[in-house]
Amino acid sequence: MDDCLFCRIVAGKIPATIVYEDDDVMAINDVFPRAPFHVLVVPRKHVEKLSGLEDEVLGGQLLQAVRRVARLGGVAENFRLVVNNGDHAGQTVPHLHLHVLGGREFAWPPG
Ligand SMILES: [Zn+2]
Ligand SMILES: [Zn+2]
Repeated sequence: MDDCLFCRIVAGKIPATIVYEDDDVMAINDVFPRAPFHVLVVPRKHVEKLSGLEDEVLGGQLLQAVRRVARLGGVAENFRLVVNNGDHAGQTVPHLHLHVLGGREFAWPPG
């Protein structure tokens, strides 16, 4: 997926601040942070949406990466996890990513 922003970041073609990575998952700082702590957890392989993620192992790896990232960022006990699935839900990059936000209070319900 040469035209995919996150595939290009995973391939090292676009710079990003990597806060965690392993063989299957990468976590980077969001360039437009919506909270003092805002990291995106991204699968290295191209999966467009959570609704298309059939790999159960990868699903677990993504959630475990969220835990690690939150701990590394000092927000382990208070963070919000957001997945925007589809245009109408606010997904702007068509490569699955999990938003981990922390460092402030969050309202419920989300907008
Ligand atoms: Zn991609
Ligand atoms: Zn997003």
